[in-house]
Amino acid sequence: GHMIEARGLTKRYGPKTAVDDLTFTVRPGMVTGFLGPNGAGKSTTMRMVVGLDAPSSGTVTVNGKAYAEHAAPLREVGVLLEARAVHTSRTAENHLLALAATTGIGRKRVKEVIDLVGLQDVASKRAGAFSLGMGQRLGIASALLGDPATVMLDEPVNGLDPEGILWIRTLLKDLAAEGRTVFVSSHLMSEMALTADHLIVVGRGRLIRDVSVQDFIQSA
Ligand code: ADP
Ligand code: ADP
Repeated sequence: GHMIEARGLTKRYGPKTAVDDLTFTVRPGMVTGFLGPNGAGKSTTMRMVVGLDAPSSGTVTVNGKAYAEHAAPLREVGVLLEARAVHTSRTAENHLLALAATTGIGRKRVKEVIDLVGLQDVASKRAGAFSLGMGQRLGIASALLGDPATVMLDEPVNGLDPEGILWIRTLLKDLAAEGRTVFVSSHLMSEMALTADHLIVVGRGRLIRDVSVQDFIQSA
């Protein structure tokens, strides 16, 4: 996996500072939780980390390089942004095949990710009609398509049923155990305490704690 380093990361929207001088490191081989209440700046930070949004100031590097300098970003960093419906008339399988085709990924890998996220039974159904939980699985399948060394997920358990939450927890731990970098945001402290190894805690755009889950729980 990659080492992700944010240094002095700041994002202003007019007079509002959404992300305020955040410095943190996300390491490979573990799950790093990005914990904070709604509006704390988690989504904005994640968008800047993957280069979808330009910082007002500060830098992000992935293994020492700016994200834009990476040769094949989708293959290196798999991203699930905050849940929203997939607007497509395609089946789930065709949606993934289309995405795979644009990045030179083969059919075999599409089958693999469908199995990995448990969408076998609905792969031939219209993705636009999926439930939130199925939509999240499809979003995660898209993120994992390129077999990325780094996986970033913004609020992946939002709206999921208990079975879906347990499934994501196990998946993230497995991805980290394979050596990948896993960065996952949530506003749920209890969920992060069960899923993450390390926590970056933010509030109002600012860093509050940068701490192992063990130390966080002992100090709580
Ligand atoms: P980069 O060249 O951008 O650093 P790589 O794709 O070479 O990224 O992956 C770097 C590291 O990520 C690997 O050495 C490994 O630790 C982890 N990694 C990547 N892909 C896999 C994979 N399929 N299974 C397990 N670990 C992986
Ligand atoms: P979180 O993901 O932790 O819920 P966000 O990053 O979505 O937080 O938002 C952080 C703050 O920035 C919020 O106050 C939000 O209203 C504001 N914000 C986010 N995106 C924009 C935008 N495009 N324009 C103006 N304000 C924004």
